[in-house]
Amino acid sequence: MKKDLITRLNEGPVLCAEGYLFAMERRGYLSAGAFVPEVVLEHPEVVSQLHREFIRAGSDVVQAFTYYGHREKLRIIGKEELLEPLQKNALKIAKDARDEFKDLNLLVAGNIANTNVFDPNDKKSYIECQKMFEEQVGWAKDAGVDFIIAETITWVEEMKIALKAIKDAGLIAVCNYAFRSAGGLRDGIQPGEGCKILEDHGADVVGLNCFRGPEMTMKLLPEIRKAVSCHVAALPVPYRTTEKHPGFLNQVDEGCDCIPGGNAFPVALDNLYCNRFEMAEFAKECVNMKVNFIGICCGAEPHHVREMSVALGRKPIAYKYYPDMSKHYAHGSDPSLKKHNTDAAKTL
Ligand SMILES: [Zn+2]
Repeated sequence: MKKDLITRLNEGPVLCAEGYLFAMERRGYLSAGAFVPEVVLEHPEVVSQLHREFIRAGSDVVQAFTYYGHREKLRIIGKEELLEPLQKNALKIAKDARDEFKDLNLLVAGNIANTNVFDPNDKKSYIECQKMFEEQVGWAKDAGVDFIIAETITWVEEMKIALKAIKDAGLIAVCNYAFRSAGGLRDGIQPGEGCKILEDHGADVVGLNCFRGPEMTMKLLPEIRKAVSCHVAALPVPYRTTEKHPGFLNQVDEGCDCIPGGNAFPVALDNLYCNRFEMAEFAKECVNMKVNFIGICCGAEPHHVREMSVALGRKPIAYKYYPDMSKHYAHGSDPSLKKHNTDAAKTL
């Protein structure tokens, strides 16, 4: 029988590649700003390919690309009629990708996220959020997902609505906050307490995703690990955010003066990118502190995921093409290489 997410986490780390929005924006299939995943309808083959690449790199989870494919996001681009087909298509694409790799025991995750309509001072917004979450969870449940990730939510109260929608549907819930630079969730609650509230309300996995790079995410994890007894999740963005600017929504690239508006977020973060080894170190640190749902959010590419997988002691499919610098013409050590090239390596 197939093991569910919790059984898998009890046995060890589960790797989850995310970051589909940024990856698709860079490839020219959706627009930064609105950030609506229209690509799942217009170019499903591109989404399938990214799923495939993340799977080959070692992701255990195929996350349906429904992030920001919700009612409010479709309203802002005037395409609310696409809501249901978009959601259903994204779920089907994820399941089809899983089915291409039958030997891997992949888990398919549904995904709900910040609605951007939640307002703590407007009780009507609670109902609106609830409806948005319930319709998405319903489609994911119908599609037979293994669990649902609620993520990038900055309010405890909004997350509680998301969590209830998932648990009312009888599904496993992973609840990940995006933690602001200003400190505290937007209700003024600290991450440990915020996660404990979710555990007490029935969340199966709690933690953080997005906003912060690996170092700034790691700073918050001990507090969360201590506060809860359930599994903890950590999916940072692969950017070198700092004490001064912990979140990637406000970043300055000191080495560049031609970024329109001056904010490197979201389309000029290149110079702040983490390399694959930094993400691998993050994965190892997570394991050491018993944070078992490990992943990577906006900015992720398969090379990061493969190195994280290798750091977990695995050999994913794409390990076949793992770097082997012994064969490099100048930096290599293979005895058949030309000596005049290897001797010149440091001068190149
Ligand atoms: Zn993200």
